[in-house]
Amino acid sequence: MKSSDCIFCKIVAGDIPADAVYEDEKTLAFLDIRPVNAGHTLVVPKNGHPHNIFDVSAADWAAVSETVRKVSLAVEKAMSARGINLMMNNREHAGQVVDHVHLHIIPRFAGDGLKLWPQHPYKEGEAEAVAEKIRAQF
Ligand code: 5GP
Ligand code: ZN
Repeated sequence: MKSSDCIFCKIVAGDIPADAVYEDEKTLAFLDIRPVNAGHTLVVPKNGHPHNIFDVSAADWAAVSETVRKVSLAVEKAMSARGINLMMNNREHAGQVVDHVHLHIIPRFAGDGLKLWPQHPYKEGEAEAVAEKIRAQF
């Protein structure tokens, strides 16, 4: 089922326009309306309205991944980019604004000024405890 108030469901349905760059049975790739750099592309599953990584089916995620791989090659070549960042926001506190699972393909250029996240070291013993917490989920 599509969500009637979801902008990406409307794009998939053709109810609002988008600059599509690739489409197959399960996925659609189209330009982000407010790009970080020209060629910034979003990839979405077309089947229903999965919200995020926690919600998307394994089959749709596999299809999105393969489309991201193909479209990354095309975007880098077409835009003569020097690299690609893949980015995904899941849930509001991670910066997700559109509640329909999507991956950002962002072409990168020398000196484009985009800064990635700040990092910091673990405290003594912290990494072992964190890794154990995550392993315990499987
Ligand atoms: P999020 O923060 O949810 O990961 O990113 C949503 C992205 O969707 C934003 O980068 C935003 O520019 C893009 N976006 C929002 N509305 C539209 C729209 O109507 N059309 C297109 N093509 N992109 C949109
Ligand atoms: Zn949707």
